Amino acid sequence: MAEIRRCISCNYERGFHISFMATEKGNKVGLICPSCGQSFDIGWVLQETFEKPLPGRKYV
Ligand SMILES: [Zn+2]
Repeated sequence: MAEIRRCISCNYERGFHISFMATEKGNKVGLICPSCGQSFDIGWVLQETFEKPLPGRKYV
């Protein structure tokens, strides 16, 4: 798979924020451009369910 890091709406090249949306098929993963806010449906669905995010490493 080619690396996905450039927004096709505004050409921002430093990657995306991600979002999760609960659907009947699982948790759909979406990409959101941090520059222009355009969202993208990339067809990724996580079958695992999660109830509460567990904090991990904090990047500063
Ligand atoms: Zn963008």
